[in-house]
Amino acid sequence: MAATNTKVLRMIDLASDVKTRPSAAMRLAMANAEVGDEQAFEDPTVNALCERVAALLGKEAVLFAPSGAMCNQMAIATWCRPGDEVLCERTAHIAVYEAGGPAANAGVMMHAIDGERGRFTAAQLQASFRAKWRHCPQPSLVCVEQTANLGGGSVWPLDQLNAVATLAHERGLRTHMDGARLLNASAATGISARDYAAQFDSVWIDFSKGLGAPIGACLAGSREFIDRAWVVKQRLGGAMRQAGIIAAAALYALDHHVERLVDDHVNAQRLAEGLAVLPGIILDAATVETNIVFFHLDVERLGFDAAEFSRRLMADGVRIGPFDDRTLRAVTHLDVSAADIDAALAATRRVLA
Ligand SMILES: *Cc1c(COP(=O)(O)O)cnc(C)c1O
Repeated sequence: MAATNTKVLRMIDLASDVKTRPSAAMRLAMANAEVGDEQAFEDPTVNALCERVAALLGKEAVLFAPSGAMCNQMAIATWCRPGDEVLCERTAHIAVYEAGGPAANAGVMMHAIDGERGRFTAAQLQASFRAKWRHCPQPSLVCVEQTANLGGGSVWPLDQLNAVATLAHERGLRTHMDGARLLNASAATGISARDYAAQFDSVWIDFSKGLGAPIGACLAGSREFIDRAWVVKQRLGGAMRQAGIIAAAALYALDHHVERLVDDHVNAQRLAEGLAVLPGIILDAATVETNIVFFHLDVERLGFDAAEFSRRLMADGVRIGPFDDRTLRAVTHLDVSAADIDAALAATRRVLA
């Protein structure tokens, strides 16, 4: 009965692009994967994935990890010493969503830059540098997020990324790109992931977001960097065994779910344009660049807040998560169709009526 229920009561889940479930074809690829001992480099499927991602990102070496957060943590712990500063935008995932990992795992301080929609400029980076004086903590790493999640899925322009990386390198700092949704940026602009990542010493992509795999991320960089990051991976308990089972899902995703990311962007635009015209919703659809749609409620006018809006929508079969009293975030992904977007808009109109 439970199995049929999930079919009948199918929810349109716009809470996040992590809500995708592995398809039957992806599960088949997983079931048929050749496997071995990952941490002995004996898993042929993991090895194939790492080679594939190294070519995709234009880097010498790659390691496979259980999560994107672990990729960020490995990079920070590899590039930094305790007491160093890590420079990032104020809303960066590493600063707000990784449970204080940079402090706990690497002993670093986060120095947040007030950017614009999750991005900062080289001038803002320059302004963040403290005096080179022994009283002041000194940065060793600059992190960017492409696309910027809390920036509303905004895409860093290539020249802005390169200007930031150039300045960082002139100053002797390392550069790291959180590329959880890097392939979304490429889908939106046509600029390759390799070009976006070229000036970054480390970069990773996530398979469990819009690519639709159940688990996994790949961290890339120089051979020397990856060898050192492997030590941190071991330390964090991220060394695996027959991980080909999950690497097969990632390979399947690279084969079948990259080109279709543009569909998610079209759907996000459709959702944004539909929401923007509704009374009580505050949204400029022109700010939606990829698969993330942040919008605000005119709470005074509506008489209910974002949490209540979300509850009412959920009762109507649509999940969109509240961010604060008046803000919500909707994310499109491969389990959401254009027809689902129209159904979600219809449900939203009922909730607002
Ligand atoms: C989801 C996300 C992460 C963490 O990835 P997990 O695979 O969930 O650990 C890091 N950065 C950004 C921008 C993300 O959206």
